[in-house]
Amino acid sequence: MSSTFQQLADSVLVGTPATHDDALAVLRADEAELMSLVAAAGRLRRAHFGNTVKVNYLVNLKSGLCPENCNYCSQALGSDAPVLKYSWLSRDEALEQAGAGIEGGAGRVCLVASGRGPSSRDVDKVSDMVGAVKREYPDVEVCACLGFLSDGQAERLRGAGVDAYNHNINTAESNHGNIVQTHTYADRVDTVEKTKGAGLSPCSGLIAGLGETDEQLVEALFALRELDSDSIPVNFLMPFDGTPFENTWELTPARCVRILAVARFVCPDREIRIAGGREMHLRSLQSIALHVANSIFLGDYLTSEGQDAKADLEMIRDNGFVVLGSEEELAQRAARPDPVDPSIRRRGAGTDVLPNA
Ligand code: SF4
Repeated sequence: MSSTFQQLADSVLVGTPATHDDALAVLRADEAELMSLVAAAGRLRRAHFGNTVKVNYLVNLKSGLCPENCNYCSQALGSDAPVLKYSWLSRDEALEQAGAGIEGGAGRVCLVASGRGPSSRDVDKVSDMVGAVKREYPDVEVCACLGFLSDGQAERLRGAGVDAYNHNINTAESNHGNIVQTHTYADRVDTVEKTKGAGLSPCSGLIAGLGETDEQLVEALFALRELDSDSIPVNFLMPFDGTPFENTWELTPARCVRILAVARFVCPDREIRIAGGREMHLRSLQSIALHVANSIFLGDYLTSEGQDAKADLEMIRDNGFVVLGSEEELAQRAARPDPVDPSIRRRGAGTDVLPNA
């Protein structure tokens, strides 16, 4: 079977897309084959991203008090999870928080606000924050995550300098009704399409461990391939007390690695980001997962604490990776010889032109 994973990697590397059956076989790989699977998926990761890790940093601009009822979310309507609840950060507070992540090594800042979607004034507010971040840190990418967008809002955010927009599909369409009732899967897809239409880089991913079947997990990943999501955050359910999913523990560290491997095989050249639940569910396999995924969040999540940022950066270094955009990575890039195309011979034998001698 392990040679089958290598064959699958060979075939994906030459441009043959993985099929549903391939994806299911990866998801159902035997525990004893885990490292062979990682080695095969790791070839795709290295082919597209080398030894770089993209580091992202979350700033929760507005926390809790959401009118939507996403059953997995600690900020949702009806959630009793004792998370921080506050209204919008000021521009200076947002800049300070973003700066902490950027100084820590993040190349992308994700500005997130709970809620169904932004009002026109909210878009102005976020645009102002984005302007401040971009003035201070012009090379940093900014991703916004503000919920459902109405017509014209994606274009306004793009005009303000936002690079990407996150809106996860979260789960398969066939499982969506089980996790939220206040909006539909189609609503989510509509916002992803709006962001693409405005020239924003679509960031859309999923949450594993929501009661989905293997087939539904694969369905969600194929939907993300279809949606052409540039970056795919793979979250592992954090079952907060006080939410309908409290006490839901469906994941093992090895399954989480297999889920990331499926994502890599199905979407080989996309940024696969290990997102919420990394520490809790991957535990001691976090490092191994980095050989499949190429992106993580640094430090804390929206409502829960992550491991120390220092430990994240150590893990990256210890595994032989470099942070994308770091001085180390730029030096590595500068040391690489410029690719030179072979120059086709048009003189000498077989031509009327004098040979090069
Ligand atoms: S819309 Fe976002 S913040 Fe609100 S409940 Fe759903 S996931 Fe949580």
